[in-house]
Amino acid sequence: MIKEFRRKALAKVNLGLDVLGKREDGYHELRMIMQTVSVFDRIYMKRTAAPGIRIRTNVGFLPVNENNLMYKAADLLMQRFQIGEGVFMDLDKHIPVAAGLAGGSSDAAAVLTGMNRMFELGLSQQELMDLGVRIGADVPYCIMQGTALAEGIGEKLTPLPSPPECRIVLAKPGIHVSTKFVYGNLKVDQISRHPDIDGQVEALKKGDLKMLADLMGNVLEQVTVSEYPKIGAIKEQMLEGGALGAMMSGSGPTVFGLFEDEKKAEQVYRQLREDPLIKQAFLAGWAP
Ligand code: ATP
Repeated sequence: MIKEFRRKALAKVNLGLDVLGKREDGYHELRMIMQTVSVFDRIYMKRTAAPGIRIRTNVGFLPVNENNLMYKAADLLMQRFQIGEGVFMDLDKHIPVAAGLAGGSSDAAAVLTGMNRMFELGLSQQELMDLGVRIGADVPYCIMQGTALAEGIGEKLTPLPSPPECRIVLAKPGIHVSTKFVYGNLKVDQISRHPDIDGQVEALKKGDLKMLADLMGNVLEQVTVSEYPKIGAIKEQMLEGGALGAMMSGSGPTVFGLFEDEKKAEQVYRQLREDPLIKQAFLAGWAP
């Protein structure tokens, strides 16, 4: 019987993000290309004889109670399967928090997978994904990982071929952008340019990195770039530094750029790391 579980919880970026409309339940109908990158949290889990859920983390401001998405994930399975034992979870966080990189959702996804293994629940990946959507719209994708077209609120997933190898530079400016603010201020009927998501699917099928990068676009930038000029400035800096394409991930504020040339990627990464207005920067690849 497995008593311990370790897993890397990967961050995701959106290579394309389109909003098609607003649903009656208040959610937005989305169309996105999702991709996991090699920026990750490390999660360690252990079964404990004492009941209950305990969380420890290296990030002081994160909740360790029922407000933590890892707690919600563990609790969901404990209630459903009437698990009498407990679980201890240690989160070593590196993914920027509230950054558009689905860090919390990825942690929750790792916990669902870990609980399934440790407590031998016998759930299939699809069953875990169906449960995961109750915690968050991105959780099913974070269980699946890799490259996917996400539709609906992000839970309808179609796997796609991985993009060709390249370097990815990510930078999170030191500003707080609330997801609620971004969606609340998006005027869906005034979106002037929708990204060509079908074109990106085509580019992935062809294995054409340049075409994929040329078609990168995120309609949510219409809200954030005017409010937070630093987001646009980072994009410019990446493109001037030789990125094939650069955009904001999710509802931001993290910006990422794709580079064919490793040296150019390193140079831009170093510049960004020295910028006092940038809180976290990474040089990464596609994952897993
Ligand atoms: P998304 O791309 O799905 O919008 P995000 O990167 O914007 O995700 P997260 O980092 O997942 O946002 O977390 C957003 C909020 O969730 C934070 O305010 C944080 O306090 C809370 N939270 C709860 N559990 C976690 C967790 N395990 N890791 C990070 N944040 C968490």
